[in-house]
Amino acid sequence: STCYLDGRYLPLDQARISPMDRGFLFGDGAYEVIPVYSRRPFRLEEHIARLGNTLAALQLPDPHNAGEWAVIIRELVATNDWEDQSVYLQVTRGADTKRNHAFPAQVTPTVFLMSDALLTPPADQLASGVAAVSAADFRWLRCDLKTVALLANCLLRQHAVAQGCAETILFRDGFLTEGSASNIFIVRDGVVLTPPKSHLMLPGITYDVVLELAARHDVAHEVREILEDEVRGADEIWMTSSTKEVLAVTTLDGRPVGDGRPGPLGRRMHALYQDFKNTVMRS
Ligand code: PLP
Repeated sequence: STCYLDGRYLPLDQARISPMDRGFLFGDGAYEVIPVYSRRPFRLEEHIARLGNTLAALQLPDPHNAGEWAVIIRELVATNDWEDQSVYLQVTRGADTKRNHAFPAQVTPTVFLMSDALLTPPADQLASGVAAVSAADFRWLRCDLKTVALLANCLLRQHAVAQGCAETILFRDGFLTEGSASNIFIVRDGVVLTPPKSHLMLPGITYDVVLELAARHDVAHEVREILEDEVRGADEIWMTSSTKEVLAVTTLDGRPVGDGRPGPLGRRMHALYQDFKNTVMRS
């Protein structure tokens, strides 16, 4: 496929960066994953705004304004074959001449984008839900930033995969934070619950869409701290992300969630999400 590297579009297998890039040496960079439906980026403004927040926290000037990002993404999407794509975008601080933790004075950020076919969960996964395990959230205290330093998230995801599961649900000090690469919603007594945004979780774009849809369609919901025990005793658990959309978790640590099948509110929210997506993309 075609990628974008520092101003040029080229085949992905020909793209090269320096081993001195601080993204490689330190994980010093920000990223986004933007879903594209029918060649139109979904919630692009929000993704670019979140990128801006991450870059600002990293004290890294955003190399492009929103209009420039939109052009780069549109061109990249046009060069690739798929109607639905997932665009990966990253900005690292760039390559210095020496390895030094402190920021170099003069350095040009490395801007890299690639795209792949967007693979949302297949019908059988939507029908049966997925299995999840739990783990202590041992990540740092700036989980609100979408940085390329994802080693903890990788270890936590592998913890699930090693047990044949799709996701690891994280608890910190007895409270739900999120998944290794998703936000988590639960349902108890007909009410949709999810934790409030804080430095302990990524402010998901899909999380926002789900809460907007709940408000618009009078789905009872509450944003509040959620105890680990409330998750373990939940009627439904869902994971949300730009590529998983709204996906039911039907077992947690080998035990069924509710009756062990995707619940009514999760199925409703998945349908609302599909409708919303289709409406936005047609408008
Ligand atoms: N939380 C983490 C740790 C993530 O990596 C992701 C995205 O992959 C999400 C939440 C969901 O965010 P979004 O809905 O913006 O894709």
